[in-house]
Amino acid sequence: MIKFLDLHKLNARFEAEFQSEFKKFLDSGYYVLGNNVRAFEKEYAAYCGTKHCIGVSNGLDALTLILEAYKILGKLQEGDEIIVPANTYIASILGITKAGLKPVLVEPNAITFNIEASEIEAAISRKTKAILVVHLYGQLTDMSEIYNIAKKQNLLIMEDAAQAHGAVNVEGKKAGNIGDAAGFSFYPTKNLGALGEAGAVTTNDSELAEIIIKLRNYGSASKYVNQYKGVNNRLDEVQAAFLRVKLPHVDADNEIRRQIALRYLNEIQNSHITLPSYQNNASHVFHQFVIRTKDRSGLQEHLNGNGIATLIHYEIPPHKQEAYKEWNHLHFPITEQIHAECLSLPINPILETTEVTQIISVLNHYKNQ
Ligand SMILES: *Cc1c(COP(=O)(O)O)cnc(C)c1O
Repeated sequence: MIKFLDLHKLNARFEAEFQSEFKKFLDSGYYVLGNNVRAFEKEYAAYCGTKHCIGVSNGLDALTLILEAYKILGKLQEGDEIIVPANTYIASILGITKAGLKPVLVEPNAITFNIEASEIEAAISRKTKAILVVHLYGQLTDMSEIYNIAKKQNLLIMEDAAQAHGAVNVEGKKAGNIGDAAGFSFYPTKNLGALGEAGAVTTNDSELAEIIIKLRNYGSASKYVNQYKGVNNRLDEVQAAFLRVKLPHVDADNEIRRQIALRYLNEIQNSHITLPSYQNNASHVFHQFVIRTKDRSGLQEHLNGNGIATLIHYEIPPHKQEAYKEWNHLHFPITEQIHAECLSLPINPILETTEVTQIISVLNHYKNQ
């Protein structure tokens, strides 16, 4: 069976380094907000090209902290509207509602899966204060028109960069350095994954960074002095140590993902399968390789029967989830069609060439009944 993602194999590549870093961590006797968190923050900010990186507990908390900090800065107020793509992973939207703000869902572009500038413009109201772009499946959102809209309407731009570590646009800007602030997740399956929960905020806004540094640690500016009603959303010291081991390898891993994607794009030939779009540059890091097909369950069964595991990202869009009952009556036809047709093929740095060949061959032999 070709696994969708073999996490053990993925991390076994770094086992010796993990062991030695863990030993140092253990011996240090310093287990919370220590040298590893500080060093990782510095290294990840340098990697993204931003002034600041704040290590936090996970990707959802990263997004929530950005919004809470903007509220403290007076740039957002309870009830303000934030425009977000309807087809995103639900965490983007949970971050907004958790912070007491109102998500306004808009349709994505059917080809890129990312938010569409014309849809943003149509959704702007007097209460709109920000746009949350999501670089879904690892592909950077085309920002050219979005920057103009944001400037004209005085809107903040936030990035959900949880799937796009290392993606770089044609101007050389990396995910995390494209908007006013960005949230990253280092969940184990992401392109840069910890061995547990971890996340980060990146920004060039020093005021915002300073507030988030405090908010994640009980709103505390110095020990037992609390400036804000903060939370405990600290990045774990041992996860920071593991992330420091893996960070120097992200670009090489992303390059392998792109090479696999190019093979899929060049060699999958089946009229029942629609392949994703790719500009043939570093703006896509293929967190997922998502194909579309009318008979998804048939294709998934065919792949499974031939020893190939696949996943669906995602089966139910946020507005059809029980968690957001108030939106269940809404219709987003493009989003709903994507959710009905999408299927993710294995794509990761430890997939063997022979496995890629096998996946392509099985897909090319698929006949829709
Ligand atoms: C993974 C992910 C998140 C949430 O990250 P966690 O670390 O699981 O909280 C948010 N948004 C997107 C698009 C994601 O893929």
